[in-house]
Amino acid sequence: MEVVDPASGVVVGEVSAFSLVEVDEAVARAGAAFESWRKVGPGERARVLRRFAGLVDAHLEELASLEVRNSGHTIGNARWEAGNVRDVLDYYAGAPERLTGRQIPVPGGLDVTFHEPLGVVGVIVPWNFPMPIAAWGFAPALAAGNTVLLKPAELTPLTALRLAELGREAGLPEDVFTVLPGEGSVVGERFVTHPAVRKVCFTGSTEVGTRIMAGCAEQVKRVTLELGGKSANLVFADADLERAAATAPYAVFDNAGQDCCARSRILVQRPVYDRFLELLEPAVRGFRVEDPALETAEMGPLISAGQRDRVAGYVDGATVAFTGSCPEGPGFWYAPTVLLADSPADRHWREEVFGPVVSVLPFDDEADAVRLANDTEYGLSGSVWTRDVGRAIRVARAVEAGNLSVNSHSSVRYWTPFGGMKRSGFGRELGPDALHAFTDVKNVFIATEE
Ligand code: NAP
Ligand code: MG
Repeated sequence: MEVVDPASGVVVGEVSAFSLVEVDEAVARAGAAFESWRKVGPGERARVLRRFAGLVDAHLEELASLEVRNSGHTIGNARWEAGNVRDVLDYYAGAPERLTGRQIPVPGGLDVTFHEPLGVVGVIVPWNFPMPIAAWGFAPALAAGNTVLLKPAELTPLTALRLAELGREAGLPEDVFTVLPGEGSVVGERFVTHPAVRKVCFTGSTEVGTRIMAGCAEQVKRVTLELGGKSANLVFADADLERAAATAPYAVFDNAGQDCCARSRILVQRPVYDRFLELLEPAVRGFRVEDPALETAEMGPLISAGQRDRVAGYVDGATVAFTGSCPEGPGFWYAPTVLLADSPADRHWREEVFGPVVSVLPFDDEADAVRLANDTEYGLSGSVWTRDVGRAIRVARAVEAGNLSVNSHSSVRYWTPFGGMKRSGFGRELGPDALHAFTDVKNVFIATEE
């Protein structure tokens, strides 16, 4: 598989893809490694994960540069992403000694519960956030005593491969954490069909996720799905309009819009609709789209020519309010684009574009805003801009999405839960509960009667 730098279109490396036979061999080795990894004492498992976090920190700049080259992420974002891997590892390094069960009062004996690891866990990662999404799966899975097979996206395998090397250097035993580059239909699909893989943790499109869930159902295999989004940014007339407009581009054009949490639908209350667009225009025109290796870059290229064409397809024939700019020449560039939705039936209003395109629509009142925000099959994230505390809470509770922010666009903190509702998937990653997604509760009763 050729690895391409999206900023130049130049091939920067080659990675060999795993065949079906090689995947099966890797599953067998991970299964064998599980028997010893699960028995490693909690303190020792914690120490290995902490060392792993330390090595990621020591190689932060190297990992970030690798991501700039392989994924076209801005250097600022890529540093944050590598730092997020470190933090997620650090956070779940605190878990093995705290994975306590319960003692439940029963007559005639002692009843205790254990959180047992599942076995081999398969993590399937998309190309949009290769490092963080990998870590959100492998860190809690390893902490809970599972072994992990990870399939990176074909387009972006480099940082995952490097992370696996750092894991080995940190002291993870052989075959406890293995990265298997290859095709989704070969490697990813085998995680679903191989009976020894006990859980699939998938992030990607709703289309592929739906098939994975169906495949897992055949074996009653555990599955967590983090899928697409079409999140709303709700701007009420009483909001701090300057801040709402200044931050809206970052909420959708960050990572060139290739973000499942992108607030790609902006809903603005009618009395301030024109004023909001006036304020939004300079923020969009000033958005710095340039060589992602530059410290000043706010947005880089899209991941591939195919993705660029797909994004352009949504803009064709739509009403363009204004656009930003982007470099010309080689690389998969697309300028930030603001579209005016004629109605909520517009294709660009309904479908996930996964590019630097945002659609704007006015609304009348609170009920109208909530109705329009929820008029989507997705439910991943969203923002509410208002100075009215009561309204902020009412609307945040009424929007059907897993991650809401008020007067902010932040979705991800490694110590708070993250995940979707509706067709954005189910299960929660990160935060205090994610660990339990990688364990089963076992109940043991011990008779004390003579
Ligand atoms: P994708 O086609 O669903 O691919 C995601 C991952 O699944 C890749 O590693 C892919 O491998 C693999 N895959 C493809 N077909 C498979 C199959 N039949 N069985 C098992 N695995 C398979 O999505 P994408 O094109 O990489 O990413 C873009 C989409 O992902 C967007 O639509 C976005 O909505 C969604 N996404 C959601 C989140 C979230 O957290 N909710 C995060 C990121 C992305 P290949 O590389 O070989 O295709
Ligand atoms: Mg795909």
